[in-house]
Amino acid sequence: KKSKKKDDDKDSQLKSPIVVVMGHVDTGKTKILDRIRHTSVQAREAGGITQQIGATYLTKEYIAKATARMKEQTSKPFETKLPGLLFIDTPGHESFANLRARGSSMCDIAVLVVDLMHGLEKQTLESLKMLTDRSTPFIVALNKVILIDRCLDWVADEGAPFQLTFQRQKQHTKQDFENRLSGIRTEFAEKGWNTELYFRNKNVKTDISMVPTSAITGEGIPDLLDLLIQLNEKYMRRQLRFKEKFVCTVLEVKNTIGHGTTLDVILSNGTLRKDDTIIVCGMPPQGTIITNIRALLLPSEASEMRERAEYKLVEEVHASAGVRISANGLEHAVPGAHMQIVPRNLKNSKDHAKRREEIEKLSDEVQQDYTNVCLFILLLFLMFNLKKNVMIHRCSRIYPVNNVECMSKHQPLGALEALITFLQDLKPSIPICGINIGDVHKQDVIKAGVMLDHQPEFAVILAFNVKVDPEARELARQNGVQIFTAEIIYHLEDAFNKYMKEIYDHRKAGATDLAVFPVELEILPEHIIHNKYPIVIGVKIVRGTLRKHTPICAKKYDSSGVAAPLYLGKVVGIQVEKKDVEIAKAGEKVAVKIEGDETVKNIQFGRQFDQNDRLVSLISRDSLDALKKNFQDDIDSDDVKHLHALKIYFSVI
Ligand code: GDP
Repeated sequence: KKSKKKDDDKDSQLKSPIVVVMGHVDTGKTKILDRIRHTSVQAREAGGITQQIGATYLTKEYIAKATARMKEQTSKPFETKLPGLLFIDTPGHESFANLRARGSSMCDIAVLVVDLMHGLEKQTLESLKMLTDRSTPFIVALNKVILIDRCLDWVADEGAPFQLTFQRQKQHTKQDFENRLSGIRTEFAEKGWNTELYFRNKNVKTDISMVPTSAITGEGIPDLLDLLIQLNEKYMRRQLRFKEKFVCTVLEVKNTIGHGTTLDVILSNGTLRKDDTIIVCGMPPQGTIITNIRALLLPSEASEMRERAEYKLVEEVHASAGVRISANGLEHAVPGAHMQIVPRNLKNSKDHAKRREEIEKLSDEVQQDYTNVCLFILLLFLMFNLKKNVMIHRCSRIYPVNNVECMSKHQPLGALEALITFLQDLKPSIPICGINIGDVHKQDVIKAGVMLDHQPEFAVILAFNVKVDPEARELARQNGVQIFTAEIIYHLEDAFNKYMKEIYDHRKAGATDLAVFPVELEILPEHIIHNKYPIVIGVKIVRGTLRKHTPICAKKYDSSGVAAPLYLGKVVGIQVEKKDVEIAKAGEKVAVKIEGDETVKNIQFGRQFDQNDRLVSLISRDSLDALKKNFQDDIDSDDVKHLHALKIYFSVI
């Protein structure tokens, strides 16, 4: 009896599991959470994209209500020792890999959302890898299954448990679903995962449970919540036992009306009390912030922390919880970093030395997070510039910055990482010369202006969700420094891509006359239309691409076998079946018109050259340089080999 009591004590100390929802963009992660909490963040968010880690707490009473219809399916009453579930919603866009990693590192269990029609997509695989690396247990939500236009003739039953609604479908609808299910299971199997529909799953520990859901009709949502509760309670009690050790992560730093700058935090272990002194990672030069909590604000039930929810003031919160902290001096707090509290037994301790020592230790710990992120960025930087050291002069000054004042939507460090990754992945990638956090000032424009003397097109500032001070804007306008601003990271990326494309296109247009693509032509002797200038002959493109303006030579050798190219002139027209074309590819047969100046006027087909001579493009050092600089994307590996051969033939050094 005694031991039973002990067990109960332990159980009463269980904390709510932290659930992270992961998956590829557009699979319906936000919509599922919306459905769960009956809100519509998805519709309201800028661009409909989750850009931020958010949190939603559901009490067990709320879950009991939301899963009430499960009784129709299982006839078991809902019961749990868990206080509730805390959902963290992470962004799906690929630039946010690091934010997702942060989200998944906090969680106890994950829901991997897969769109049944699209199967395993890029970020699904990335999420799978992350979950495996961290040994995080997860279940799969097969979303968008229950669509009238997807599963044949599906008759929806709003909010119904899956099995219940499934039983009632027609035979061919069921079959259609089974076929799709089997397809997705095969895809998982190919990646080494055994999966099974959750109610058919006999080996929960080895096979991943899948719940078919529709965020639109709400079918399968009760199953999802119920399964999360069941699995956590059954298999994760040990991990979910409440511990006093304090673990807390700052998600966002934002202004709250009436409270000034506040912190949204996820408390994943321990207790936070209103009279605690917190130790928060701060941006240099201010550094660590040590401040007393003024108020603890808890969002009302089933509301999303980012929403303008109703908050209630509380004296203390226990893990797991998402809570907003109001305190003085939080302006420079770093989101994404851990937070600590001054141990309560030391708070009013007379042993000042010990207290100071402990606070210093904890300060170092939280400040380490800033160092880690900075090191990470520095490392990216170094890797990048070392790789491209020959091009170091070709840098843009980039300030993907965030403003503490208007940090309501974004995490600066996550955004910085996202932008750095984006610039790195561009081809050719863009080295970054500077990064900064905060509004764009005159000083930033002056720094970026250094590039004006080298490569003016790279005097660029990317400003993410920050203000540009009017003086800075005016100076940039005068000097020709480009400033791109946006509140959504995609928009910033799109604007920059568009700008780069314009620059490349402009450069290409200027270089078309100079750059020469490699090409080799075979003369078709039965198609000699005009053997004198302008020469018009039929040719087959043996290798490379034929473009207008290409200078052409007959590939001849003298009697001792030394290359003796015979210059014929430039291609002025290409025709396929009497139609003009700009470009022709290997394998095509075309009529080509070649024109030359006075120096070649006497050359004739059949005299100085004939069908036994191959025709090739004439390349020079300048033409090669122009080609490499501006048309890197348009030449393939065979072109590179071909150019090499032509270089030898034309003795280009
Ligand atoms: P996220 O990027 O994964 O958060 O995806 P969202 O929740 O923003 O959803 C992407 C789009 O898919 C939105 O237009 C949703 O309305 C739609 N969607 C989400 N879940 C479902 C579903 O179960 N069925 C259907 N038909 N559409 C869905």
